[in-house]
Amino acid sequence: MNIPMVDLKQQYQALKQNIEQALEDVLESTHFILGPNVQAFEKEAAAYLGVKHAVGCASGTDALHLALRAAGVREGDEVITPAFTFIATAEAISYVGAKPVFVDIDPRTFNLDPALVEAAITPSTRAVLPVHLFGQPADIFALQQLCARHDLLLIEDCAQSFGAGVEGRMTGSFGLAGCFSFFPSKNLGCYGDGGLVTTNDDVLAQELLVLRNHGSRQRYHHSVIGYNSRLDEMQAAILRIKLKHIDEYNRLRRRNAHLYNEGLKGLPVATPFEDGKGVHVFHQYTLLVEGRERVQQALSDAGIASAVYYPIPLHRQEVYQELLAATSLPVTEQAAGRVLSLPMFPELTPEQINHICQVIAGAL
Ligand SMILES: *Cc1c(COP(=O)(O)O)cnc(C)c1O
Repeated sequence: MNIPMVDLKQQYQALKQNIEQALEDVLESTHFILGPNVQAFEKEAAAYLGVKHAVGCASGTDALHLALRAAGVREGDEVITPAFTFIATAEAISYVGAKPVFVDIDPRTFNLDPALVEAAITPSTRAVLPVHLFGQPADIFALQQLCARHDLLLIEDCAQSFGAGVEGRMTGSFGLAGCFSFFPSKNLGCYGDGGLVTTNDDVLAQELLVLRNHGSRQRYHHSVIGYNSRLDEMQAAILRIKLKHIDEYNRLRRRNAHLYNEGLKGLPVATPFEDGKGVHVFHQYTLLVEGRERVQQALSDAGIASAVYYPIPLHRQEVYQELLAATSLPVTEQAAGRVLSLPMFPELTPEQINHICQVIAGAL
């Protein structure tokens, strides 16, 4: 039984007819750039996420970049963010000329530790950029209060948390902006690259619309240097179909996570901690385990995929080496040495999960 980290085929098979019809409609319309599907998807996503505005763009990385730029973060500014995340989070900070200030995480949730964020604030700090890592909302009310108290911008990296929420509110609705990715393997994924910025701020939304389209509000009038970063019309058509199913996909991810928890009970591994404050949508199902190589080998021998997100924290990346000496992140380093992510997708079956747990038990 070969089990991949993510199986996108089953979902495609289930939606095939609708998706192919939607793509054919776009092809027939020949309205390929910023057409009716982008507009409709932005409306539907904003309604789902409970925000006033949602602006589509070309990727999750661009969503972060556009949000930081629209918010006015620039050279000389510091932005507090975790090092235990995908490189794009910090890249976007560097794109606008600001400096990422890496802060340590909570050892159980892997999300930014608000107390350490507070301690890292300097007169240059302009924004806090938490990541809702693996699909679990960061400690967002604490971060919100802290940002209000210190007059800092709060920008959320929601690339892994579409549909995750806290107290009935969705991630992406708490900060000045929320930044989403529709990379194919994300909880809501398209069939290429795509991204979205959410905001309740009318001025920011206008700025985002201008920036994503060559700095242009009106055709051939350019007020600022912008980008070509539009959400593709065909991807928007696909996302509109998938958005209708996202709650079901996330419900199945949670079910699968809880089946894993059951199956791994009694073994010397730490199963994912749910802090109970928010709804975790399990973009990844991530264990802490000693002897990770042994477990990975046993899984691999059985044809089961596994992955380490993330083996090298960002402060240890070559590109950020000048920050290394000033950065001490013991919890991040510990996590990077022990995390192991198991296959996770809605269509994973209880039988497959049971099998994976047995292979792990045999290795420990
Ligand atoms: C995937 C991801 C991104 C980047 O999204 P892309 O659409 O691939 O550009 C940013 N941050 C995090 C945490 C991610 O997981």
